[in-house]
Amino acid sequence: MNIHSTYGLWHAFRAALLFPVAFDLPAPSQGPHPCESCDGKPCLSACPVNAFSGTSYDVPRCIDHIASAEGTDCMTGGCLARRACPVGRAFAYGPAQMQFHMRAFLRAHQPSGIPE
Ligand code: SF4
Ligand code: SF4
Repeated sequence: MNIHSTYGLWHAFRAALLFPVAFDLPAPSQGPHPCESCDGKPCLSACPVNAFSGTSYDVPRCIDHIASAEGTDCMTGGCLARRACPVGRAFAYGPAQMQFHMRAFLRAHQPSGIPE
């Protein structure tokens, strides 16, 4: 999981910058990783179709679920695994932002699967 100690899973990187020269960057934070002390790791058991194995993410399984009627909770409220994480909950996306990203995710993988 790409998790931040303050923002939890509520951040994303949607671009990359390419420079023709190398330069120094600030050192990465050396703080403790939130997952190391996480009780029960609820993110790993929250997905209704077990898309997470602990070492991998089964994208087709997730897509099949969210494109179906059974996936309405994920589509309207956001990924249940992401929502299960206790870190950074105050920064969780609001419903409109959550739905925007879920629809964009589904559209990117299965353009015909967007529910009305
Ligand atoms: S629920 Fe726990 S193990 Fe899962 S991403 Fe959050 S802190 Fe890490
Ligand atoms: S969006 Fe739903 S189906 Fe996909 S990984 Fe998250 S909880 Fe599982």
